[in-house]
Amino acid sequence: MRERIAQACAAAHRPPVSVRLLAASKTFSADRVREAAAAGQHDFGENYLQEGVEKIDATRDLPLTWHFIGPIQSNKTRPIAERFDWVHSVDREKIARRLSEQRPAGQDPLQACIEVNVSGEASKSGVAPANVLALAKCITGLPGLRLRGLMAIPEPTDDMALQRRRFAVLRELQRELQEALAQEGVVLDTLSMGMSADLEAAVAEGATMVRVGTAIFGERAKT
Ligand SMILES: *Cc1c(COP(=O)(O)O)cnc(C)c1O
Repeated sequence: MRERIAQACAAAHRPPVSVRLLAASKTFSADRVREAAAAGQHDFGENYLQEGVEKIDATRDLPLTWHFIGPIQSNKTRPIAERFDWVHSVDREKIARRLSEQRPAGQDPLQACIEVNVSGEASKSGVAPANVLALAKCITGLPGLRLRGLMAIPEPTDDMALQRRRFAVLRELQRELQEALAQEGVVLDTLSMGMSADLEAAVAEGATMVRVGTAIFGERAKT
């Protein structure tokens, strides 16, 4: 996996350390997380709250960083605020406000990315590009959150040119957002994009964090 990222970075003339690998461990056991951790993996992403919290509990002895990357229901924000280090899927103000209020005092702010819908009709999750700036301004005013950047899950396609166009939209949005928020001292350093099937396109378009499940852990059982 690291080799694949290194090659994608070489092709994009980027240093391999510029891309952080997040292991998307949904449906895989805490033991598989331990194996990956023993092999040097530090960042793990979970989509389902209860499953994620169980794995966090089961690996408490390890110095891992946990990312919540799944859809967020507004009545289920508390465990995200209390137990995770990062959240990648903030897509509305109500969720942002709840996460901030529920982040325990004394913990670092929850590191947050805004999920953007870069595929239009084809995807229902994420905020529309036109509404990203308003949500970003809301988040930068919340004490319990620290805005780090943007995340997207474009519709699956084998067409690498299309993959790159979708990721380029996110990169361009991030650039505009950074420009708009620079006076406030906000530094956006995270573009969370790219999965097993499209990480080369994402790295070519500037991904700083790729979220990889299948290519690390194997196929997930169909539910
Ligand atoms: C499952 C998942 C991934 C990883 O997908 P793979 O195709 O298995 O690499 C990445 N991001 C999110 C949000 C996911 O739910």
